[in-house]
Amino acid sequence: MENKDNKAGGCACGAPRPAPQYPDQVTGMYVLARALRMVGVDTMYGLVGIPVTEVAYIAQEQGIRFVSFRHEQNAGMAAQTHGFLTGKPGVLLTVSSLGFLNGLTATANATVNCYPMIQISGSSVREPIDLDQGTYEGLDQLAIARPLVKAAYRVNNVEDIPTAVVRAFRAAVSGRPGGVYLDITTPCLGQVIDMSRAEELLYTPVDPCPAMPPAPEAIDRAMQLIASAKRPAFIIGKGAAYARVEEQMKSLVEKTGIPYLPMSMAKGLLPDNGPLSAISCRSMVMEQADVVVLVGARLNWLLSRGQGKWSKTVKFVQLDIDPREIDCNRPIAAPVVGDLRSALDAMLARLDSYKMSVDPEWIKAIQTHTASANEKFAARLKENAAAMPMNHWSALSAIKPIIESNPDVILINEGANTLDDTRDAIDMSMPRHRVDCATWAIMGMGMGSAVGAAVSTGKSVVAIEGDSAFGFSGMEFSTICRFKLPVTVVIFNNGGIYNGVGENLGKDGDPAPTTLDINARYDKLGDAFGADTYYVKTPAELSDALKAAIASKRPALIDVQLAADAGKESGHIGYLNPAPLQTIIV
Ligand code: ADP
Ligand code: MG
Repeated sequence: MENKDNKAGGCACGAPRPAPQYPDQVTGMYVLARALRMVGVDTMYGLVGIPVTEVAYIAQEQGIRFVSFRHEQNAGMAAQTHGFLTGKPGVLLTVSSLGFLNGLTATANATVNCYPMIQISGSSVREPIDLDQGTYEGLDQLAIARPLVKAAYRVNNVEDIPTAVVRAFRAAVSGRPGGVYLDITTPCLGQVIDMSRAEELLYTPVDPCPAMPPAPEAIDRAMQLIASAKRPAFIIGKGAAYARVEEQMKSLVEKTGIPYLPMSMAKGLLPDNGPLSAISCRSMVMEQADVVVLVGARLNWLLSRGQGKWSKTVKFVQLDIDPREIDCNRPIAAPVVGDLRSALDAMLARLDSYKMSVDPEWIKAIQTHTASANEKFAARLKENAAAMPMNHWSALSAIKPIIESNPDVILINEGANTLDDTRDAIDMSMPRHRVDCATWAIMGMGMGSAVGAAVSTGKSVVAIEGDSAFGFSGMEFSTICRFKLPVTVVIFNNGGIYNGVGENLGKDGDPAPTTLDINARYDKLGDAFGADTYYVKTPAELSDALKAAIASKRPALIDVQLAADAGKESGHIGYLNPAPLQTIIV
């Protein structure tokens, strides 16, 4: 295949650079792009500079879409969201040293969240790094990445690039998915190889994400326990959303009559408002269920690690691909280790051999509680709808019906109160349509994830962001505009982290640690990049703006003016603070 950049004898960006001497020679960068193509990569997210600029040019030439960002962390968040939504690793390209480190935050986050992702970074010449002699962007990147990712490899030789790419791909996507780091040294990127030799080395891996069915005994142990339960429940996690088991879960719920409680990013796998949804019955499930089936959900801090509120006698069935997850916080009575699709298919196949004993009173109790919770919720939205200035609930009273009547819009959500209240307010009815701060509850995923969602699915995206959360990645609004993505960013501006009424206890006139800017006009940032922009002060204005923005399929930014006192410290997880502010001050 022709490689015009190398034939031209310089790099695509115009700077002189040693190039292959003959037309039938190529560089490591070319081999890298071809190897990525061979494993099926069609999109790369990143930010170029020495030594990877030409990698991106060649990737574009080879038919890989290159989505260029303003900061590597955000490009990485796009890659991890791409991985979650497509089941194929999202690829991040970074430069050495700081670019690598910036990107690594996202790769680490992908690993924690079990999203498949590959960070490819150029790195400097080995020898002066190893001798600590001081070289351009010299950093021992492989050593730094290793503890934070699922797998890490360094490539020193152009002939190893195809194998390295295949290994990275397999590591990212097989078993429990995660982030993989691929370090390619500058000399290797520029190393010359005959095109014919490179083509010989390239290959497509067979079955990179093999099914891993659980043992039949594990299925029967689980089925026996489930069949014996009077007050059972499924807890569905984002592992189930990732594994695309909505059909299996639908059948299992219908055939067993067992209610389900989705974790945040599993919302919509089965409808949040379905008759067996226990989404409003979290405490009830924790306190009263006798058997809980964890389906691609970890019993981590988001489920109180199986402690606290949880009944002492509840028995768990846990379906997970990673055997190390079992028993990590509480004894698991029936572990089912294997991929979810195989596990649920096997359970469905054995279902006729078991008779369920679900107590109808349990279902009635869940439905009664749900109805009363829904009523209270509707009343809260209604009573806040008229609040002026708006609070989170007033804004959500306008947004909820619009998102719910556009179920194919992907919702990106981050913030503190903005996250908690949006998650609680908006029912989802389609799988993999909600992406949020997830397991680490981090801030700074918003704009990157919005780009990754729009690019990888082609769907419209609405990002609901706290003003603080937006600040972490706000500059990527320019990326949304440059790539003309159908993304609407809704910023809830309450003037601060948690809210805008923090007090500087030193009285030196500086803002309090939590205070941002209640008067900021984020919509004007959208103007800078040619987006459709709106500044809204009432639910009616917000409703009109959001409808128009979604319909336009163009980049849009809606600045929602809230009251500065809307929102409380740390949203729903204030209990995680070491102590309330009043008790710290003496
Ligand atoms: P949530 O935050 O929604 O509770 P977690 O990220 O904590 O979800 O848990 C997801 C779990 O799903 C992880 O333990 C992971 O190993 C598991 N998982 C991911 N993909 C699969 C799969 N294909 N089959 C089985 N388990 C999976
Ligand atoms: Mg705020």
